[in-house]
Amino acid sequence: MIRRLLARLGESQLLRGRVHQSLWLEVILTATAASALMAVLAGALVLSQSAQMLERDAEELQRQLSVGLTSYQPLFNLQRLLLQAASARQVETALVVDQRGIVLAASNNALVQLPLAQVLLLPRQEPLRRLFDDCPSASALLACLSRDELQFQGPLPWIGGETLTSRRQYPLALEGSTRFGDRATLITVIDDSQAVPDALSFIVRVFLAGLLPLLAGCVGLMLRLRQQLIPDLLRLAQVDALSGSYNRSAFMESATELLHRAEPLQSPMALALIDVDHFKQINDTYGHSAGDQVISRVAELLRNSARSVDLVGRLGGDEFVILVQLPADAATAMLDRILAQVVSHDLGISPDHPVQVTLSAGLAASSGPGGYVLSDLMSAADAALYVAKDRGRSRVVNLELEALGTRSGTAARARPGQWQVRGV
Ligand code: GH3
Ligand code: MG
Repeated sequence: MIRRLLARLGESQLLRGRVHQSLWLEVILTATAASALMAVLAGALVLSQSAQMLERDAEELQRQLSVGLTSYQPLFNLQRLLLQAASARQVETALVVDQRGIVLAASNNALVQLPLAQVLLLPRQEPLRRLFDDCPSASALLACLSRDELQFQGPLPWIGGETLTSRRQYPLALEGSTRFGDRATLITVIDDSQAVPDALSFIVRVFLAGLLPLLAGCVGLMLRLRQQLIPDLLRLAQVDALSGSYNRSAFMESATELLHRAEPLQSPMALALIDVDHFKQINDTYGHSAGDQVISRVAELLRNSARSVDLVGRLGGDEFVILVQLPADAATAMLDRILAQVVSHDLGISPDHPVQVTLSAGLAASSGPGGYVLSDLMSAADAALYVAKDRGRSRVVNLELEALGTRSGTAARARPGQWQVRGV
């Protein structure tokens, strides 16, 4: 069971799982946001398109109604034209106001002959009031009548709105009642309140229709990333570039998880810190890049000697760490073999003569006081490594075994409780 776990964790399922989980979330959020943005833009386009059409309609309406003002027809004809316009189209209000500010004709009979200032005070004339917003006094009102204006009103007036009001002055030529030079202002209020709910329902439809293809596109992209890019990125994030072994953080994460899973089963685990002896001399004698080569070669030897289920990491400098699923004595024997293999290996950094290095290792097992707590195992292994260095290097030290007296042939100078952490 633990063996299988180790194999799986070798590929760091933990990190992979976290990356994949956050990718799914990102994909869903991105597709939703993209679809919403697309729908809002499409809705704005539809609104502005319908606003342009409405403007054209308003101009056409003005053109048709203006015929009644300028073609020497009787006033009642003009009045009939306005009534027809109001009943046949979305025209809410149509007024003709003379230059004294009196309503000559209106789509609503009740407004005829009223001063415009009075009409503006009536209830339900909000669009008209807004059209004359910037004409607060009676004289300003008259001045405004000669100023043409086309105005959208509503929540989004810059791309269209619920109401289109227009004001345009024409020469006034009615049968019998006007003199040369008279002018009148034609005011229309067109209701387009349906445009906003229409645009909203269009936005929702575009959003729903766009969501599926966008989601499919994002998922496709994510699957490609998962297959091709992410495994490489994960490897890069976990592997120390020089040694090709796990870097410190990846090792710590995987080792913590393995120990956590081994503890309930009480599966034996052992952790060893391994350090190259007199590594500074290699740097000093053969140069820094030769030192790099040694680190890389030693790491390779460690990985080759370890089993595929063991975790090998480089903690930094010339210090390595290995976590194995073995009891203390078997792990010690395994490390002895590894050390013997390394010492017999020419590192190939000098063309003139073979160069070998020795390793020192400090080992701690889950059967000892550290149990399955990674930091405790690391401290115990570090103390053992210190002792190994102190005893002359090129050896494996397991203080716990020595304390139990099961490992013979080594003079145990340190006892548990007297462990000293290197460098302290
Ligand atoms: P000891 O037997 O006590 O371990 O002696 P040592 O000379 O190996 O001492 P130590 O382990 O403290 O030496 C580590 C040296 O490794 C110090 C540093 O200059 C060198 N070093 C650290 N990182 C690198 C690296 O990435 N490349 C190379 N070439 N050298 C490194
Ligand atoms: Mg060293």
